[in-house]
Amino acid sequence: MPFNVWCEGCGHLIGKGVRFNAEKQEIGKYHSTKIWSFTMTAPCCQQRIEVQTDPKNAQYNVVSGGKQKVNQHMSCCTQHVCCNSQSDQSMQGSCSML
Ligand SMILES: [Zn+2]
Repeated sequence: MPFNVWCEGCGHLIGKGVRFNAEKQEIGKYHSTKIWSFTMTAPCCQQRIEVQTDPKNAQYNVVSGGKQKVNQHMSCCTQHVCCNSQSDQSMQGSCSML
């Protein structure tokens, strides 16, 4: 999971970095960039959560089953080094989404 998501099935917060066995599906294109849909089952209550990539805004969108905890910083975050950084310290310092 590339961000924190509230599970709509039970209200559980699924943390950023939790790994899922997602089903990956190409659902379209934005210019030459493929748009992917990931469908996964929440670990808390078997809720199905669908996430799509959004190449236009360089972010992810939760389309069903859950809600992104914070989304107003998404476009900022995905463009900044903080989200790709291996350092927890720099991530926490510069990225309020985390
Ligand atoms: Zn749940």
